[in-house]
Amino acid sequence: MPSVPFKKILIANRGEIAVRVICACKDLGIQTVAVYSEADRYSSHVRFADQAICIGPAKSARSYLDIPSIISAAEITDVDAIHPGYGFLSENATFAEVCEASQIKFIGPRPEVIRLMGVKERARAFMRELGVPVLPGSPGVLTSPEEGLELAGKVGYPVILKASAGGGGRGMRVVNGPDELPSLFLQAQHEAGSAFSSPDVYLEKYIGAPRHIEFQILADEHGNVEILGERECSVQRRHQKLLEESPSPAVTDAQRAEISAVLRKAISQAGYTNAGTVEFLMDEAGNLYFIEVNARVQVEHPVTEFVTGIDIVKSQIRIAQGETLAEILPGPVEMRGHAIECRINAENPVTFVPAPGRITGFHLPGGVGVRVDTWAYTDCVIPPFYDSLIAKLITYGNDRGEAIRRMQRALSMFIVEGIHTSIPMQQRILADADFQAGRFDTNFIKRFMPGPK
Ligand code: ADP
Repeated sequence: MPSVPFKKILIANRGEIAVRVICACKDLGIQTVAVYSEADRYSSHVRFADQAICIGPAKSARSYLDIPSIISAAEITDVDAIHPGYGFLSENATFAEVCEASQIKFIGPRPEVIRLMGVKERARAFMRELGVPVLPGSPGVLTSPEEGLELAGKVGYPVILKASAGGGGRGMRVVNGPDELPSLFLQAQHEAGSAFSSPDVYLEKYIGAPRHIEFQILADEHGNVEILGERECSVQRRHQKLLEESPSPAVTDAQRAEISAVLRKAISQAGYTNAGTVEFLMDEAGNLYFIEVNARVQVEHPVTEFVTGIDIVKSQIRIAQGETLAEILPGPVEMRGHAIECRINAENPVTFVPAPGRITGFHLPGGVGVRVDTWAYTDCVIPPFYDSLIAKLITYGNDRGEAIRRMQRALSMFIVEGIHTSIPMQQRILADADFQAGRFDTNFIKRFMPGPK
C-alpha cells in the first residue's frame, strides 16, 4: 500500500515535547494544531502551531487527559493524525482506539500492543517467552501475601513489589525479609489501586546497585525493526531520570549487538510498530535484564538522535504515514560520538521539590555541539499543575570527555532567573570524579543529598 503524507497533525500534549513535535512537522511541511489548557494560554506550543484550540481548565483530567475534548478539537480542525508526545494519553490504549474509530491516525503502536506493554508483568512474561532475559520473579500478578512469601523465598531477598500498571517511578516497595512482606504487599496494592486504578502488583528480584540502560527501537508497519543503540539513565532521583547519555559507558559492543539481535526478533514478533524503548537493569556483574517497554517517544530521545543522526520524531510520523524504514533512514544505523542530556527542571536543586513561578530572565547556551529543547521564555510562568521540566540541554562530543566539557560549558551559560532549577545539581554531578570515570549506578545521586548515604 503506498504511503499517504499527512497534511495536518494535532499534538495532544504541552511543554517542550509539543514544541519538539511542531519542529518535526515543520521539517516535513505538515500543518500543526496545538491543544492547550487555560493555564497554558501563553505557552510557546500555542504560539508556534498553525492553529490552537483550548480544551479545558488547568487540571489535566479535564484538558490534556480529556479524550472527548481532544477528539472534538481534531475533528473541528480536520487533522489526519494525532501525536500524543509522552505522558498524558501517550500510552492509553483506549485513546488510540478512539482515534482509530474516528478515522484519525494515532502516531504510536497499535492499541492492543500498547495494552500488552502497559501491563508490566504481562510484558515481562511475553518478553521472557521470546528469549529476552528478565529478572527472576512472579510469573503474573501476585494473588496473596502467602504466594509472595513463597516466591520471594525462591528468588531470594531483597525483592521489589511493583504495580502492574505503574509508571513514573511510583508504586514500588523494596522487601528485605519475610517479616516485612505481608504488610508491604498490602501497602503496595493500596498505593497501586489509588495511583493507577488497578491494585495489581507483581514481584521481582531487587538489584541493590543497578544501572538503568534502555534500548531505542523503531519499527515500521511492514515488519522491519531497527535498534538505535542504548541510553544510560542511571542518574536518577526518586527513580526519575535527571541526566542521560548515549552510549552507556557500561555496555560493550558485543553486549549491544547481542541484545539488539534478541530485541529485533522480539519486537517484530510482538507486532510492535512506531518508536519505543525497551528498559533494562544491569546488575553488578554486568548482566542486562528486561524491566519494561515504554510504548512512546521518551524524554531522553535527543541523545540517540545526536549519536545516530536519526530524527526520531520525524521517523515516528513517517512510519505512521506508512513509509518503510528503508525509505526513512539515511542508511545503516551507526552510533558515532557521545551525547549527554540534562533535564532542566523548575525545582529546588537539593530537595527536588518543584518550584513553579515566573521566569524573569532567560538566556540559552549555544555553540558547537549544543542543543536546547524548551518551551520556556523570559516572563513565562511555569504553572504548578504539570511536570517541572522546562528545558532539555543536550551536548554532543566526539567522545564522552568532550560531551561532558561541552555540557559544563553550556550549563554555565544557561541563565534562568526568578525560579530555582536543577542546574546547580547537574553542575555538581558533571564535576564528580566517579561520574567522569563512568562509575555510577542508580544510587549515585544520594551522595549529593543531605542525610544518611
Ligand atoms: P516506572 O515505570 O515507574 O518508571 P520501572 O520499572 O521503569 O518503573 O523502574 C524505575 C526505576 O526503579 C528503575 O530505573 C530502577 O532505578 C528502579 N527499579 C525498578 N525495578 C528494580 C529492581 N528490580 N531492582 C532495583 N531497582 C529497580
